[in-house]
Amino acid sequence: MTRPWTEEYDELLKKEWYKGTIIPKIAVICKRTEIAISARVHLLRLGRRVTQGGRKNIQGSAGFAGLKKRNCLMCSIKFQTEWKQQWVCNPCRGTSLWRSSDNRV
Ligand SMILES: [Zn+2]
Repeated sequence: MTRPWTEEYDELLKKEWYKGTIIPKIAVICKRTEIAISARVHLLRLGRRVTQGGRKNIQGSAGFAGLKKRNCLMCSIKFQTEWKQQWVCNPCRGTSLWRSSDNRV
């Protein structure tokens, strides 16, 4: 009963998929079962798509939000930490003294 996928329907599937169309709707458009659509999407490795209201990922990397400024252990200058356990500022981290020390993070 399985009809072969034609290029035409593949293109249609891709188009609708990346548009964010839900699978049941694509199934109707492509005149196939939802299972067939899922299987095809998997086979074509269409991967993730941006669905309506799915902007969370973009705003997920909120930079230095929630991270404190602290005094560098080496030069005592206040700097913005980029992760929680950062004790030494970036310029100091780049020095050979820091690199050769045993207490680097
Ligand atoms: Zn420093």
